Amino acid sequence: MSGIVVLGLQWGDEGKGKVSYILSRDADYVVRFQGGANAGHTVVLDDGRELRFNMLPAGSAAGAVPCIASGTVVDLDELEEEVNLLRSIGVYRNLLISKCANIVLPIHKSLDRALEEARGKRSVGTTGRGIGPAYSDKALRIGLRVEDVLDPEALSSRLEVLRSIHKVYGDVEGYILQKSSILRESVCDLELILNDVIDGGGKIVFEGAQGTLLDIDHGTYPYVTSSNTTIGAVSTSCGVSLRKISEIVGVMKAYTTRVGEGVFPTELKDQIGERLREVGGEYGTTTGRPRRVGWLDIPLLRYAVKINDVDWIALTKIDVLSGLDKIKICVEYEVEGSRIVLAPPRVSLLEKAKPVLIEVDGWTKLSRDEWRKISEKGVDALPENAIRYIEIVEELLGKPIKLISCGAEAGLVVWRT
Ligand code: GDP
Repeated sequence: MSGIVVLGLQWGDEGKGKVSYILSRDADYVVRFQGGANAGHTVVLDDGRELRFNMLPAGSAAGAVPCIASGTVVDLDELEEEVNLLRSIGVYRNLLISKCANIVLPIHKSLDRALEEARGKRSVGTTGRGIGPAYSDKALRIGLRVEDVLDPEALSSRLEVLRSIHKVYGDVEGYILQKSSILRESVCDLELILNDVIDGGGKIVFEGAQGTLLDIDHGTYPYVTSSNTTIGAVSTSCGVSLRKISEIVGVMKAYTTRVGEGVFPTELKDQIGERLREVGGEYGTTTGRPRRVGWLDIPLLRYAVKINDVDWIALTKIDVLSGLDKIKICVEYEVEGSRIVLAPPRVSLLEKAKPVLIEVDGWTKLSRDEWRKISEKGVDALPENAIRYIEIVEELLGKPIKLISCGAEAGLVVWRT
């Protein structure tokens, strides 16, 4: 039995796409289980080709069957583009989409932008991709599901309700029908297939999008995404019991970033922050927005590790820290005279938190070729202070770091046993 979950432990952009791609190489299926085309998972192949996935799981670039589960909101334009991308690199295997997944309509995108404008100074920094409004229609039980598209009667009665509520005119039917051929080929009772695969000894990777701190219940609400990004979402969205999950992998980068608004206790607004942003290419995959950058935040990571109960950690972007003389890690917060070692991401608490930082020695800057040699030789070839940094983080979080990513390309990884 093998169900492996890949989750982000920070505010997203941790490098889940690369980790999922690596773990999907010997998987039968790879599943997106929440969110919509607001993910921005990047895979850089060893020949330098960069593949971006907003809607499909990035692991499908490794040849696993791509699946979209019921808890997602599906952007049909993106779906088409990404299926074509997989076809163009010769790895496409017939997509499977749950009948129960909801569809993002053009009206949801207009509403998303209008809502963001109406929030004014309190904007939450959405990607404007219609995700929030599509989820709210789902909760209102007026959403359009994949199965409705394939049934002309259901489609027209659903659209009638949507029209009366959103006052949408324009040719929504035409849009849906034009895009529906891909759904026709892919629609299924996904939960039954996934259960059978695991029961039959197959391997499935469940690829999370965004990160723990953006979870609609457990994140820094209201500066969060519109879905659950944490472990429970795998089960509710895919209809697969958590008992069938054999491994939970938490992905974190070696420092912290956050895109959009919201509290960020370890944010660096100085030259070091700028340097990390430039070296790390910290600009949104979907939006191009500069990401805010800060030191590693252990109190929040401890929370993410706890609520997801991760088995092991994949640490990414260790290469971005190279060349710094000293590296800081926030190990605790001071809040109104008390020390907090594990912080639930409540805005009211984080706004008062003063990071307690330790300082560790950095290591010299290494070229891509040097990182490649290190990946070939293995963990002992890592700079001594990089190993020390990894061990300190491991000790602080109480979980093993088994995979270290030291560059964007898929081959730039070091495994630790
Ligand atoms: P995701 O949304 O969690 O999949 O993360 P993104 O794909 O948005 O952001 C990660 C970015 O960092 C992508 O451009 C990756 O190609 C790149 N990346 C992933 N791992 C590493 C790494 O170890 N080092 C460097 N320098 N870049 C990495």
